[in-house]
Amino acid sequence: MPELPEVEITARRLSAAVAGARVESALAPGMVALKTFDPPLDALAGRELGGARRIGKMLAIDAGDLTLLVHLMSAGRLQLFDARASLRDRASRILVRLEDGRELRLREFGTRQRAWAKLLAGDAVAADEAVATLGPDAYPAPPPEEFAKLLEQPRHLHPLLRDQRTIAGIGRSWVDELLWTAKLSPFQKGSDLDDAELGALHTACDEVLGGAIDHYEQVVGDTIPDKMPMPLQVHRRAGEECPRCGARIEAIHFKDYVMCYCPEEQTGGRVLKDRRLSRLLK
Ligand SMILES: [Zn+2]
Repeated sequence: MPELPEVEITARRLSAAVAGARVESALAPGMVALKTFDPPLDALAGRELGGARRIGKMLAIDAGDLTLLVHLMSAGRLQLFDARASLRDRASRILVRLEDGRELRLREFGTRQRAWAKLLAGDAVAADEAVATLGPDAYPAPPPEEFAKLLEQPRHLHPLLRDQRTIAGIGRSWVDELLWTAKLSPFQKGSDLDDAELGALHTACDEVLGGAIDHYEQVVGDTIPDKMPMPLQVHRRAGEECPRCGARIEAIHFKDYVMCYCPEEQTGGRVLKDRRLSRLLK
């Protein structure tokens, strides 16, 4: 689940590795992954890569006056390999072959093809729908007053913080960590937050997301691993003890994700209904 910290470290490592390398050819074995056709992907051939940067949860690879914008979605990885992929590798979506023999590869794990890429003119990136609709980055957190305004919506914090149009970079993993760190219920509404709660959430954005990037700087080498060593305290830890208070961490299962929280510190001691269980019991 690459979110802001995972995409940030990917951009930093890729940038250091590919800046200055020249593209030999580019192809898209996963036809559906490439969402643009003009310019064609092979227009990258012969261009020198400027580097990689993060835009929200997306990656942008600059190549002269073109930019390859990549969204990893939940199961994609953009990695650099020393040798070329076998064309039978079914996980390959986009291959950017470099003249020095290395290959920048967008791969996706699992059966669903959801990761995507767009090849855009560099000056068209900001206006692209996926970029133009993004709220400000969650890290570094926007100034407190702007942060308060962004969250002043009558929506539950869990979906609100994951809404990229409100604030960019947070997904299903880090939202649990942010809410746990700020001791807030996932079902509290943004517009109901008082100043102290807003302050706690603002601090959590900087500490938790910034802390994760610092952690990756320490433990991730030159190569981005398939599975990121995510420093999670509550997400995917249902049934374990809360590292802060010792209570049992509870989970609510949704169709394709799990929300984890500490009932003792976040929901006033209440264990919220697990929707999966209640559906089964109907
Ligand atoms: Zn706790």
